[in-house]
Amino acid sequence: MRKPMIAGNWKLHKTLEESSSLVAELIPAVADNQNVDIVVAPVYTALGKVAETINGSNIKLAAQNCYPEPQGAFTGEVSPPLLKDVGCQYVIIGHSERRQLFGESDEQVNSKAHALAEANLGIILCIGETLEERETDQMFDVLRRQIRLGLKKLSAEQMAGVVIAYEPVWAIGTGKTASDEQAQEAHAFIRALVTELYDEQTGNATRILYGGSVKPGNVDSLMSQPDVDGALVGGASLKSEDFARIVNFQPIA
Ligand code: PEP
Repeated sequence: MRKPMIAGNWKLHKTLEESSSLVAELIPAVADNQNVDIVVAPVYTALGKVAETINGSNIKLAAQNCYPEPQGAFTGEVSPPLLKDVGCQYVIIGHSERRQLFGESDEQVNSKAHALAEANLGIILCIGETLEERETDQMFDVLRRQIRLGLKKLSAEQMAGVVIAYEPVWAIGTGKTASDEQAQEAHAFIRALVTELYDEQTGNATRILYGGSVKPGNVDSLMSQPDVDGALVGGASLKSEDFARIVNFQPIA
């Protein structure tokens, strides 16, 4: 009942030409796949070009961040209505790089979530613990805090537009993937928490993606876990062949 989503976060990579070539290669490789929501998140400057290239395909566009105000004197920022205007259907918020490198707080993430819901854009909310937090038994507290504060005052109706990405910080860009069991344990916890904060229907309907060194070689077993509904992919989304293989994952029976 939950349609899987595979989203590629390109981070600060690729020129206009490279971005458009990457999706041009991806389009035929995933064209037959109607079972997965396929999303790419290029840098801001490539959004327009990628939107043109994917037009008419089954690939959707996302931005990697946004500012929570629709317009105004906010030099250098980009707002949800403008991201919608360029063709985005989703926006990633709360990525650990933004939390760690740019000091983004749960409160700021929550303002962005409200601004995106207001603009009718899909939200990919990233959460995840650091290695130290895991090793000192704070993982569940951290996930609980990030979800409670990140989704604060979002209605059950607005939750229909929210996808949660569980990305343990120690697995991002490190080559270390959470084991299938570690991913399933965190995802089951997150689903139970969404159910507790909202209701059973919302808990069952909310898609929870895993992120952290997802590759062609580990996607099949991760996607075979009952509460893993997709993946947020960094490094491996920069190569069309690898990303296409991840999109066309084969669950293990
Ligand atoms: C990410 O940046 O969201 C991510 C999961 O990166 P990687 O796949 O490279 O670990």
